Amino acid sequence: MSASAATTPAAHALGEGGGSNQAWSARYAQAVMNTFGVPERVLVRGQGTSVWDADGTRYTDMLAGIAVNCLGHAHPAVLQAVSDQLSTLGHVSNFFTTPAQVRLAEELCSLVFPQEGQEVHDVRVFLSNSGTEANEAALKIARRYGGPARSRVLALEDAFHGRTMGALALTHKAAYREPFEPLPGGVEFLPVGDVAALQQAMGPDVAAVFVEPVQGEAGVRELPSGYLEAVRSLTTQAGALLVLDEVQSGMGRTGAWMAHHLVAPGVVPDVVTLAKGLGGGIPVGAVVARGEAASLLGPGQHGTTFGGNPVACAAALAVIATIREERLLEHVSALGAQWAAQLATVPGVSEVRGRGLLLGVGLVDDCAPASEVAEALAREGFIVNAPRPDTIRLAPPLIVSQEETNALTTALARVLASREGD
Ligand SMILES: *Cc1c(COP(=O)(O)O)cnc(C)c1O
Repeated sequence: MSASAATTPAAHALGEGGGSNQAWSARYAQAVMNTFGVPERVLVRGQGTSVWDADGTRYTDMLAGIAVNCLGHAHPAVLQAVSDQLSTLGHVSNFFTTPAQVRLAEELCSLVFPQEGQEVHDVRVFLSNSGTEANEAALKIARRYGGPARSRVLALEDAFHGRTMGALALTHKAAYREPFEPLPGGVEFLPVGDVAALQQAMGPDVAAVFVEPVQGEAGVRELPSGYLEAVRSLTTQAGALLVLDEVQSGMGRTGAWMAHHLVAPGVVPDVVTLAKGLGGGIPVGAVVARGEAASLLGPGQHGTTFGGNPVACAAALAVIATIREERLLEHVSALGAQWAAQLATVPGVSEVRGRGLLLGVGLVDDCAPASEVAEALAREGFIVNAPRPDTIRLAPPLIVSQEETNALTTALARVLASREGD
């Protein structure tokens, strides 16, 4: 497919039968399980940082499918890679491998563990289709590592690790977890940043500690400085694995390949999980492990039909190559820092958290709830979301321009000014 084909919207994409947002939403409500609420907007097309709904309204996408579309919509490099791979070989099962799968695994070994240098001997990758599956595999590694004698697993309060049963057991929010109990056991939650509590909980019966270097769903909360270093040294002392969930924060989102490279540059984890931005919009996840953790899932102990699919791997390789070629890590750090500073000066904003292009904009009480601010911004032509009642999350494509970030800041200032003192 040529890149220009993508700029010509296919007729069916513009709303088959001329459907409006309202008409499609009504059909959605009849046909789709109500796990997300009924969306008001039905998106039919995307190009770069723009998306269009079924009523023809254009939005600047400042959420990127929740930190997924890192190169924006219909990026020519992803289009080309996916279409070349699909027209050559689309799927093979894990009875076979493909050059795309091997190349992606090799890339991930050195992106996640650059400390190991050119010779990454003891790092291995398992490819999945999503973030929750990556964490599921990491939990199975932790079980294999710990055995019956080390059956405890520690996670943090406000953690989000996914919705399948194992990942759900690691997710803190009671409303997500409790309706589905009993969940895989042995998980305990610790207050974020509390080294003494961690010290007390840690012992020879702990298999692993799961941590997000930046807690995304909790409202974009970076771990307090020094905490990850403390987790590393306590897990090492106790002989437990350190698993970092970089599903949201990884793949350049914060201005480094991995958020932990920035947040805690000296820390080398045992296992890192990835997904979201990895495939630039194509579903793909990964578990990257080193040392003993890299060899604990043996033949027959884990598997997946779709994981490592060559089309998904080709997309991820295109994402990685484009981030390098377009020097996007530098762009993300510079623009993100400037945007965060600018947003912090907006009246109604209490604080700006996060790094690079993963930002949580805290709102003063008068301006909350954030869900109403997000809706007002949508009416101004910007897609954002509200992970908490007091927080707007910004996670635009990494290719977003300064003009676009400026425009969001101006729109947010206008929206918040109209709410203060309401
Ligand atoms: C989104 C997310 C997950 C779950 O990923 P899915 O692809 O939705 O299964 C896990 N961990 C973190 C930190 C996430 O942000």
